[in-house]
Amino acid sequence: MINLETPRKFVGLVESSHQVATEIFRANSRKYDRAEHSYPKELDMLAAVIDGMNEGGGIGGAGAGTVSGGPSGDGGSPTSREGGNRNGSNMASLLGLTELCWGDVGLLLTMPRQGLGQAAIAAVANEEQLKRFRGKWAAMAITEPEAGSDSAAIRTTAKLDEETGEYVLNGEKIFVTSGDRAELVVVWASLDPSKGRPAIKSFVVERDNPGLKLDRLEHKLGIRASDTANFVLDNCRVPKENLLGSPEIAPQGGFAGVMQTFDNTRPLVAGMAIGVARACLERTRELLEEAGIEIDYDTPPLLQSAAASEFIAMESDWEAARLLTMRAAWMADNRKPNSLQASMCKAKAGRVGTDIALRCVALCGSVGYAEDELLEKWARDVKILDLFEGTQQIQQLIVARGLLGKTSAELK
Ligand SMILES: Cc1cc2nc3c(=O)[nH]c(=O)nc-3n(C[C@H](O)[C@H](O)[C@H](O)COP(=O)(O)OP(=O)(O)OC[C@H]3O[C@@H](n4cnc5c(N)ncnc54)[C@H](O)[C@@H]3O)c2cc1C
Repeated sequence: MINLETPRKFVGLVESSHQVATEIFRANSRKYDRAEHSYPKELDMLAAVIDGMNEGGGIGGAGAGTVSGGPSGDGGSPTSREGGNRNGSNMASLLGLTELCWGDVGLLLTMPRQGLGQAAIAAVANEEQLKRFRGKWAAMAITEPEAGSDSAAIRTTAKLDEETGEYVLNGEKIFVTSGDRAELVVVWASLDPSKGRPAIKSFVVERDNPGLKLDRLEHKLGIRASDTANFVLDNCRVPKENLLGSPEIAPQGGFAGVMQTFDNTRPLVAGMAIGVARACLERTRELLEEAGIEIDYDTPPLLQSAAASEFIAMESDWEAARLLTMRAAWMADNRKPNSLQASMCKAKAGRVGTDIALRCVALCGSVGYAEDELLEKWARDVKILDLFEGTQQIQQLIVARGLLGKTSAELK
């Protein structure tokens, strides 16, 4: 049975993540919002500490890099057990990330060795590959100029060179989070575009591969601490052992395999939105109280001031998003298929996070809009969480398909 309180064994993780969020993320938030494209060197020391704590079972799971593969995995958490109610690495990652994003989501997204590419590796890699790529900072490159929401439309190709035993990748990838800073880039490419979705596979490319050419870094509305790279793959050669999973083009399975990544990463992105929204709510409450507006939970909202009433409505929406997200992570840890719930929580948290941030800016008026406060930054940062890993509209489409029992061909 699901229990939606923070599991006791993760209380320490939440506390240490909160400390990091306060002392390192918040403390450097504005600095790296202004200094776009400069590397937050403060994170290097933090990454070393987290590596050490991971080995000792401490803050492990605070980043996406530790998430397990597929809806069934629990990530091999040392504390998981057969049967019963598990809280494994998906829940740990969710709780840790939420807390860190209360600090700063842009800095979280550029934490060394915590890239979403590791989730892609975990979803489809074999044992040897898991070992070889373990602990590396991996970005994920799916999106192309002609393929965003419809990831099955990618045009990047991978052709096997029988003589050298290498795949040769050609194409263009855009909007790759941590693409410039990561050690590896997981690239989606098609073995045979005439065979559609099953021919799409993921390939691990070393960042310093000469065929992976950085085109430019994006300038962005928010999450400016995080680098977003565009690449050209120009006869980029990778050993054939770097194709993740099986090279077989099976009518079922291949694309489903790579899509499994999202069942684990979407709840995490939802958690990021929940973290940012909580930051907005907490600061707004403080500012309202300073202005003499009290929020009273013993009086019906409609009998209170408009500001207090709106605040209570935002909090209940936030709580609904949080509970949906915990459910999706819990299902992943408990080997229950969670594609539908992962999209539900991502849709709800992405929308609620963006709404809350903007309404908090509005409630705080000019104070909310000015750079003296972080509220305006959070309102810019949070929008990406309703876009990447599948937009709001795409999540709703997936939910509709799941509820109505329709395939992607039947409901587009
Ligand atoms: C800062 C940032 C970081 C990113 N990081 C990564 C990354 O690390 N790796 C990566 O691969 N990608 C990344 N992306 C890309 C991101 O995942 C895509 O932008 C996203 O999937 C949307 O694709 P698109 O921009 O091509 O929009 P489009 O797919 O062209 O969509 C445009 C609009 O149409 C709507 N729409 C599209 N199809 C439908 C439909 N069938 N029904 C209803 N509405 C629809 C969309 O919701 C959207 O509102 C990143 C993007 C940004 C901005």
